[in-house]
Amino acid sequence: MKVLSNISHACSPPFGSLRSPADMFCAPYIMSDTSEKYKLVLGLEVHIQPKTARKMFCGCDAAIWKSEPNSHTCPTCLGLPGALPVPNFEAVHKTHLLGLALNCKLNKNSKFDRKHYFYPDLPKGYQISQYKEPLCGEGYLNLDSGFKVEIERIHLEEDTAKSFHDENKTMLDFNKSGIPLIELVTKPCFREVLDASEFCKKIQVLVKTLGVSEADMEKGQMRLEANISLRTREMEERGELPKYKVEIKNINSFRFMEKAVKAEIERQSVLFEKGEAPVQENRGFNEATGKTVSQREKEEAHDYRYFPEPDIPPMEFDDKYFEELKKELPELPDEKKRRYIEKYGLSEASALKISVSDYIKVFDSVAAELNPVAVANVLINKPESRRWSKEKFREELNKKVDVISDEDTLKLVIKKVVESNPKAADDYEKGKKNAIQFLTGLVIRETKGKADPNITRNLIIKALK
Ligand code: ZN
Ligand code: MN
Repeated sequence: MKVLSNISHACSPPFGSLRSPADMFCAPYIMSDTSEKYKLVLGLEVHIQPKTARKMFCGCDAAIWKSEPNSHTCPTCLGLPGALPVPNFEAVHKTHLLGLALNCKLNKNSKFDRKHYFYPDLPKGYQISQYKEPLCGEGYLNLDSGFKVEIERIHLEEDTAKSFHDENKTMLDFNKSGIPLIELVTKPCFREVLDASEFCKKIQVLVKTLGVSEADMEKGQMRLEANISLRTREMEERGELPKYKVEIKNINSFRFMEKAVKAEIERQSVLFEKGEAPVQENRGFNEATGKTVSQREKEEAHDYRYFPEPDIPPMEFDDKYFEELKKELPELPDEKKRRYIEKYGLSEASALKISVSDYIKVFDSVAAELNPVAVANVLINKPESRRWSKEKFREELNKKVDVISDEDTLKLVIKKVVESNPKAADDYEKGKKNAIQFLTGLVIRETKGKADPNITRNLIIKALK
């Protein structure tokens, strides 16, 4: 490859020297597929509202959902001069539990800092957060594919008030002001947006399992921010990170995140193709247009003038406390999944489905005493069973004792039947729908009438696709 001479200067700030091969993609030649040319670099910030009785630094009731505006306030969370913050240990403890579950280094010394910026929903002019000494340092979480998500830090802070814009008025509700927030920051380790959404889903299940948060995204108890930039394949090979990032804020669903990131990849690729470079800024995603729009240029950390919060003494944690914390950790979702496979003989797919489901408690309470594979199948395929009692399960499973509904067992029989009847499979491909009926009949005969006809039929259709 040779470096072209007519490279636009706009490319240089985020990518350094114009002489580097990284500048190649600013050159005015067109490749048909830009997805091969520009590689995604994605980092996440996840805000989680821990479930606590009180707010972060005052005694106000934290149960604010649907309550009258400004009904959960006091001088501290209204930011009145002279009011003193007192940290909520319940929130500290929950942050530590999450850190422990994510293999983080828990810091023995930690403190709160003031993060300064001006906005009407922040009357103190600063947010109490954590900067240099967060509660939890580096950690990681493995995804199902084996991809390791690297966690930079987990800290604790306070939420702001909520503003409502109505024509030319802005109204403020201080109920949310001072609600505790756990902030989890990943390294810019994601290369695929689907890994990022899988990570967020796993975090959501994990905080629920730990009892740290209800993580209801509709109630804003879990909020995502994505930092997105692109780099060339050469930069990726050298392990070189881009020198800019675009932050998408206020992402309130996983689907929304996937769309927003895809839109941003597209926008930034087009800029690079034109020889321009994206600027470091915050952007919001407009679902209606499918595009992101600029909100404001991003501050650097030094713009916030962080300094230690003088009204809260530094925190110190001893080994005994950390030891106790380890004992509190329940069985985690991945451990549950492994146990379901190894001890109960569930398939990988069923074990995964159950381990992240809302009906996991039902499964746990019934599976040990009955046939776990049968219980799992009923729970997955019959939503109404998720409210059944143990007696009802016993009754239903006894009824079905002669019916094979276990997908893994059926798939083996189907494979055998399809392989020994290639003509039927061929007919189906040519559009003869009744070939399915024929094959279903064979599977039922093969199982001496025990195969569940509906499940069998669906599995055959899947197998022939
Ligand atoms: Zn208060
Ligand atoms: Mn934050």
